[in-house]
Amino acid sequence: SKVLGIETSCDDTGCAIVDSDRNILGECLQSQQQIHLDFGGIIPPVARDLHKQNINNVVTEALQQAQVSLNELDAIAVTVKPGLPLSLLVGMNTAKELSKISRKPLIPIHHMEAHALTARLVDKNLKLPFVVLLLSGGHCLLAVVNKINEFLLLGQSIDDAPGEALDKAARRLQLKNMKEFRYCCGGQAIEKAAMKGDPKAFDLGTFMTNYKDCNFSYSGLKNAVRMQILKSEKKHELKGDEIIPEVYDLCASFQYAITKHICTRLQRGFEFIDRTKLLPEINRTLVVSGGVASNMFIRKHLNLVCDNMNFKLVVPPPRLCTDNGIMIAWNGIEKFNENLDIYTYDNLDKVDIQSKAPLGKNISQQ
Ligand code: ATP
Ligand code: FE
Repeated sequence: SKVLGIETSCDDTGCAIVDSDRNILGECLQSQQQIHLDFGGIIPPVARDLHKQNINNVVTEALQQAQVSLNELDAIAVTVKPGLPLSLLVGMNTAKELSKISRKPLIPIHHMEAHALTARLVDKNLKLPFVVLLLSGGHCLLAVVNKINEFLLLGQSIDDAPGEALDKAARRLQLKNMKEFRYCCGGQAIEKAAMKGDPKAFDLGTFMTNYKDCNFSYSGLKNAVRMQILKSEKKHELKGDEIIPEVYDLCASFQYAITKHICTRLQRGFEFIDRTKLLPEINRTLVVSGGVASNMFIRKHLNLVCDNMNFKLVVPPPRLCTDNGIMIAWNGIEKFNENLDIYTYDNLDKVDIQSKAPLGKNISQQ
């Protein structure tokens, strides 16, 4: 079967056509990153207007690349939750229109579930259940994927997301004013800058050491790096828009602190999974995805935790970790094959967007 997927939950306009043999037949992705970097953050109506401007081209381009007509599709999948309402609406309305004119069914998709299931597009041997750690611009989630649409949430961030913390720090450090990071998002800029710095230069502290659950927290780290930046600015008598000499060391130390936090919390999660026997022995696989999972330093250290706990690590390539249409189309394939959440073209009123949407069931942790 063939499914077309549309993604507009945040600041990327994406469309792709994927088939059940895991072929990516066509793909188009239009990022708004540079525009939002220049604004210093995402302004929802601006994001909506850019989605509106681009969506038709993106869909047409993906279809053209795939050499597939609407008639040859089996379904149209679209992100409906969670995300920015104005952005989600553009994708959903486009998908509904396509569904009506082609009389093909519509499959609503949960953006975070799609991030998780991308791993099964990449690795055809990846069987359910598996453990997933999602590290992105809006989330930090640890879950067991029991079925395509059945996630068991073990833990999540109690405050900020790791990507958000990285983006904030990058903005405070004015990395976008440095030529070498001009076209990077916050996380990419920090990863590149960190390569030139000393991760032990600044001790930003450890957080949640006494928490016996599987949750995460990034606001303490975010604040620690903020204080350190202010200190450096004061020391050199700089204003906020000038580059401090310690910039590389700060990036390295911040990336290191975030990595250490993720690794120690993940270790707890693994121990919890083993204690409660939540996972059959043969399914010891950890999937890591979401934009922050494209960070090679973080990947390397997650790999060490996995080796230590006898888990196999599966991480999609960077372009599939960040937002894209492919993951939505693939999630559509997974649902289509199992006959889940399929809405016929004359029943689309039942499909709506949702800005907040929890991932699966929550279980009490310790
Ligand atoms: P969500 O998926 O939670 O709705 P989102 O879709 O905005 O959020 P993604 O596109 O999955 O998030 O990821 C974007 C985030 O990933 C940004 O915060 C960005 O800074 C971060 N990121 C991208 N590349 C890297 C990298 N190499 N290292 C660290 N972080 C990165
Ligand atoms: Fe995302």
